[in-house]
Amino acid sequence: METEAEAIKFMACAGVFLFLFCFKKNVFVIEFFSKMNELEKVVIVGSGCAGLTAAIYTSRAALSPLVIGGPQPGGQLTMTNEVENFPGFPNGINGFELMANMRLQAEHFGTRFVDDEVKDVDFGEDTKKIVCERNTYLSQAVIVATGASPKLLGVRGEKEFFGGKGVSICATCDGSFYRGKDVAVVGGGDTACEEALFLTNFCTKVYLIHRRDTLRASKPMRERTLGNGKIIPIWDSIVDEIIGPEKVSGIRVENVKNRSKTEIACSGVFIAVGHTPNTQQFAKYLHLDDDGYFHRKKDSFVETNIEGIFVAGDCADKTYRQAITSAGTGAMAAILAEKYICRKI
Ligand SMILES: Cc1cc2nc3c(=O)[nH]c(=O)nc-3n(C[C@H](O)[C@H](O)[C@H](O)COP(=O)(O)OP(=O)(O)OC[C@H]3O[C@@H](n4cnc5c(N)ncnc54)[C@H](O)[C@@H]3O)c2cc1C
Repeated sequence: METEAEAIKFMACAGVFLFLFCFKKNVFVIEFFSKMNELEKVVIVGSGCAGLTAAIYTSRAALSPLVIGGPQPGGQLTMTNEVENFPGFPNGINGFELMANMRLQAEHFGTRFVDDEVKDVDFGEDTKKIVCERNTYLSQAVIVATGASPKLLGVRGEKEFFGGKGVSICATCDGSFYRGKDVAVVGGGDTACEEALFLTNFCTKVYLIHRRDTLRASKPMRERTLGNGKIIPIWDSIVDEIIGPEKVSGIRVENVKNRSKTEIACSGVFIAVGHTPNTQQFAKYLHLDDDGYFHRKKDSFVETNIEGIFVAGDCADKTYRQAITSAGTGAMAAILAEKYICRKI
């Protein structure tokens, strides 16, 4: 009886052991094959103009790209009603519609999309690992097109009138809508001066609101700006509120020295206090410049310090930051990614 019980015990243990062994092995096998299946040729991070153009090109090259859409599917252009400077649309096009069309075009050639956001990467090995909120993706090549987010003021009225109702972050994009009107530019660096000077081509008066009593911009830029009769500096001042009701009709500014508040009538407010490039998740591996934008290899618009990793659009460009230039570098990154993958085969 004792021997029989022991035999049963032994067989039960052996059964459990066998089960666990097979289960574990099976899991390993499944994991192994699923990882094999997951190895992408090219993963594109970002679904703005740069990412979607890269997707159109790489899918037409039969690379079946995977696009990680990120926190803002379609990118920044989805925030504007009217895009008048993207070639091919003589009457302009709604930003959301333009991006929806780009996505359809990419899907048409076989691009796949996932709704996920990159949190970390490992670009240390030949196979690149992209760790996202929901999943981890493996790829031979990666195109990073994460854009640069405009810094905002965080004042009342800013969100309500943003994108089409009088608050803008881009004079090149929206300046011509303010022909014959008075506008305000907020900021004191080179970009703010450039925006103000550009706006003098259309506007009657350009108020330049700056929190200090001198401009931070370079000397030649300061001289050009302050020498322009249409630009009226409002020193030592911050915007307290952007006033409506339906569209922008003015701003209330506060003097930081004596705390007095004044209203200035204007139809548009251009915020030029800088951008934050969305590059931090990649900073362990990819070189950044002093302002946090991706640093590109010498003589290249899209190559980085790591072979097989390409950058495109505003995340690597603090000069132009336009839809068409982003699309342009998206195409370049895609062409070089395809060449890189061909070399590896
Ligand atoms: C209100 C407004 C109006 C504009 N009007 C014009 C105009 O009329 N004409 C013009 O030429 N330009 C205009 N611009 C500028 C233009 O939108 C940008 O230059 C262009 O969108 C840049 O494209 P991009 O693909 O580089 O980046 P973005 O469009 O910024 O796209 C970045 C993408 O990266 C994704 N992303 C970010 N972080 C992560 C992450 N961690 N993981 C995964 N994905 C991530 C985002 O979800 C997004 O899809 C305007 C911008 C704004 C804000």
